[in-house]
Amino acid sequence: MHAEAFLIDLDGVMYVGGTAIPGARGAIRFLEEQGYPFRFVSNTTRKSRETLAGQLEGMGFSIPETHIFTPAAAAAAYLSRNHRKSAMLLTTAEVAVEIMASAGIVQHPDTAESVVVGDAGDRFTYGELNDAFRRLLEGAELIALEKDRYWMGTDGMMLSAGPFVAALEYATGGEALVMGKPSPAFFLQALASMGAEPATAVMIGDDVVTDVGGAVSCGLSGILVRTGKFREEMLARAPHPPAAILDSIADLPRHLQSLRG
Ligand SMILES: [Mg+2]
Repeated sequence: MHAEAFLIDLDGVMYVGGTAIPGARGAIRFLEEQGYPFRFVSNTTRKSRETLAGQLEGMGFSIPETHIFTPAAAAAAYLSRNHRKSAMLLTTAEVAVEIMASAGIVQHPDTAESVVVGDAGDRFTYGELNDAFRRLLEGAELIALEKDRYWMGTDGMMLSAGPFVAALEYATGGEALVMGKPSPAFFLQALASMGAEPATAVMIGDDVVTDVGGAVSCGLSGILVRTGKFREEMLARAPHPPAAILDSIADLPRHLQSLRG
């Protein structure tokens, strides 16, 4: 495993349910002191990049917004690049505001060219999903901020956007364009921002499919941590096994030192 640059997942790796993983701060400090470049690639779609940076600050991590890559930011860039003017945003209110502001689009139920689905939480009602279904039948494109199945919340596992995206795909027979992990464009954009190459970069995540599998398909190495949503049975079924498994990101310094011998 060549480890010269790092992509690091946030939820489940740096924190769980708003609490920092013990030792995460030390691991980040180690990367900084050793001069390893790194970026954060999150599939979190309930919160804006600004909120995520503020939340990290509150946990004692000083991470500039520009070092955090989110599906919402990728979707805004996509909508803007493709000259979309209106969209239906089935997301939390703050993510809808972030996408509209950075993509320069409006929400209009009758003219939406794109239906953007993130982890909308309690906004996933029959009415909203059915409105989205009808827009798709009218020819709108389906954009999934992410298709994760679940994440680890404060009091247990939580459904992510994936099951709802799958419902719309099933109903329409179409396939969503996925913005976040495991989309290769998402990993490559984060690597390019620090001038890193896939062959010498490592993705660290708690999801063996979207984090590790996505990164490995893209030419990176994957490190899986046993925190967050980690489940032993998912690891056993993984088509792309990780190069290393750590109990948590706290073990990263020791692991890198062992690689260097
Ligand atoms: Mg995660």
